[in-house]
Amino acid sequence: MNTLDGFTGSIGHTPLIRIRSLSVATGCEILGKAEFLNPGGSVKDRAALWMVREHEKSGALRAGGTVVEGTAGNTGIGLAHVCNERGYPCVIYMPDNQSPEKVEILKTLGAEVRVVATVPYKDPMNYQKQAGRHAESLENAVWANQFDNVANRLAHYESTAPEIWEQTRGGVDAFTCSVGTGGTLAGVSRYLKEKSRDIRIVLADPHGSALYNWVTTGEAVMTPGPSITEGIGNSRVTDNLAGTEIDDAVQVPDQPMVSMVYEMLRGEGWFFGSSTGINLCAAVQVAESLGPGHTIVTVLADAGHKYQSSLFNRGFLAERGLSPD
Ligand code: PMP
Repeated sequence: MNTLDGFTGSIGHTPLIRIRSLSVATGCEILGKAEFLNPGGSVKDRAALWMVREHEKSGALRAGGTVVEGTAGNTGIGLAHVCNERGYPCVIYMPDNQSPEKVEILKTLGAEVRVVATVPYKDPMNYQKQAGRHAESLENAVWANQFDNVANRLAHYESTAPEIWEQTRGGVDAFTCSVGTGGTLAGVSRYLKEKSRDIRIVLADPHGSALYNWVTTGEAVMTPGPSITEGIGNSRVTDNLAGTEIDDAVQVPDQPMVSMVYEMLRGEGWFFGSSTGINLCAAVQVAESLGPGHTIVTVLADAGHKYQSSLFNRGFLAERGLSPD
């Protein structure tokens, strides 16, 4: 029998998919790690599982304990699933600039959702800091702490990256993806650089984030925003991201991201979210800079269903000067 064991046993082992039109156009193999096929629907299922396991191993999380997190949504969704499987209540703090679809999904999954005002990280009322304080105030509770808990990047070092290495039979020339916590980029970079120092690691950043400047100048200075992307970009270098070998960064504006997502939808049948649009635009840029004959891997982080009211809403796009055509 060839079966997977339960919900957590179904996390990871995602296919690596050739994106046809982009591969043909660039003369490279543009390959997407199909993270939207994780059972909770995004790349963050891996981080959720690894963080919960780490808190269990350390003894901080005991039977019936509560898992608290501050999240733009996908980590919360992953945690809510894992918590249901293991019998932990789950409390999620979310900033109020995220798509309402994510709030509804979290509630349906049984998480207690606290939507709070969107304020900068340095503000004590920032959603991440509120989550940390709430966990501290409860008995038998943990703050998953995806931004600075390096179990997040370990998930990608131990699962995503070895899968990519095996699926390409070691034939990967470059890896690029956008960064929220940095867990994905940092974990994959560490593993691939151990295999070959020549594999190029490129950070993809939306506008309204400090990471493009951090990679290219060494200073984490914000670029003008905002961006309609969700779950990516950051104003600071997290513990997950710190110390990661990154060769270069590209900045992708919202319009090429929107065009990419709609081209994928209309031309190839894919229904992707905004961070995947950024990742694919970056993969094309990396392919163009390396020239034909190279293999570039990126991340298909989640699907479009959660963005019906934003990315897939013409009115929403028009108000922001963006067009799907
Ligand atoms: N894409 C999506 C859709 C996400 O939800 C996230 C995480 N917030 C990312 C990309 C970024 O992943 P990471 O946190 O590993 O940097």
